[in-house]
Amino acid sequence: MAKVNENYLKLPGSYLFSEVGKRAAKFQKENPDAKIIRLGIGDVTRPLPQVCIDAMKRAADEMGKVETFRGYGPEQGYAFLRDKIADFNYKRRGLDVSADEIFISDGSKCDCGNIQEIFALDSKIAIADPVYPVYLDTNVMAGRTGDLKADGHFEGVVYLPCSAENNFSPKPPAEKVDMVYLCSPNNPTGTTLDKPALEAWVAYAKENDAVILFDAAYAAYITEDNVPRSIYEIDGARDVAIEFRSFSKTAGFTGTRCGYIVIPEGLTGTTSTGERVPFKNLWARRHTTKFNGTSYITQRGAEAIYSDEGQVQVKELITYYLENAKIIRESLSAAGLTTYGGINAPYIWLKTPADIPSSWDFFDVLLHKLHIIGTPGAGFGPCGEGYLRLTSFNSRENTIEACDRLKNFKG
Ligand SMILES: *Cc1c(COP(=O)(O)O)cnc(C)c1O
Repeated sequence: MAKVNENYLKLPGSYLFSEVGKRAAKFQKENPDAKIIRLGIGDVTRPLPQVCIDAMKRAADEMGKVETFRGYGPEQGYAFLRDKIADFNYKRRGLDVSADEIFISDGSKCDCGNIQEIFALDSKIAIADPVYPVYLDTNVMAGRTGDLKADGHFEGVVYLPCSAENNFSPKPPAEKVDMVYLCSPNNPTGTTLDKPALEAWVAYAKENDAVILFDAAYAAYITEDNVPRSIYEIDGARDVAIEFRSFSKTAGFTGTRCGYIVIPEGLTGTTSTGERVPFKNLWARRHTTKFNGTSYITQRGAEAIYSDEGQVQVKELITYYLENAKIIRESLSAAGLTTYGGINAPYIWLKTPADIPSSWDFFDVLLHKLHIIGTPGAGFGPCGEGYLRLTSFNSRENTIEACDRLKNFKG
């Protein structure tokens, strides 16, 4: 009889968004006239930049002619795209990342989830709490953790609690771990890690021979000059860090699918006999064995943002969401609520009011009284209790309407 991978059974059901959906549907059924505004969505809503559309149409036409047709592309990604990424996102910022350290993929979720395969199974992981669930769940599936405990944490995982008290900035733990997942700007909190915080992590990684897995999916949303956009802005990070980036939130590619990973040449790990091996070689082996490349059409679409026009259009897109975020932040403050994030990220992390401390209770109040849907912070980890996530990925009209309702919030 075929046996199942029982590690999967350790995972709780995907409770968060299904429960949100269930409660919203029940309310709508009982109140058919209520206009519900969804500020819980973690997906972009604006159309693709025109430069991307044009580039993809041209690419599709090329596929239709025998002279310009293309079959399998290079598994690591086309050089035209990797060169532009290296130039625009790294060289122009004075950072040392070369095109052959970049691997194109069909999105960051897969990269963040797959990266753990090139680490030993007995590696110890550290993750923030609250957290983007992919980092943890993929390690659970791989068997790198024990069981889920009553407190909502998995056995064998080092959790880095993040709350207002530490500015949502996870601190290096006292103990030694092998892999550390960091996300800045952060989903769900919308906050960022500053240079000193990242320097502390790079120092920790060097001291403990650990690898930092740095998720910069929201790098394009950074508006403040002093916030690092890449882990490689930190001295020594090339020796200890892998970076993840995506076109999803940058250019509206959540449905089009393109991302990439940077693995520096000199980043190594040890074998059981103490030999040092470059992680890049392992990833190259994995990527070329299990992946056959992102579509040519998509890579041309992604490349298009690295033109003068493309940069303007991407900036417009991000400014739209960030303006929504500002409107939300200001309305919540006017209602006497405390907010975090939303300046360098599309997410606003809202402290629940003192008289409704529970994430889920506050979710219900917003739904029932204001017909607004957020995402309960507790769904992102035990330390998310007492918070609620709102996103700026809605239309300006809906955002303004939701904010008019929020301004009059009286608990
Ligand atoms: C949206 C998101 C990603 C990117 O996902 P894609 O697979 O590229 O669409 C990665 N990390 C975080 C934290 C995200 O929120």
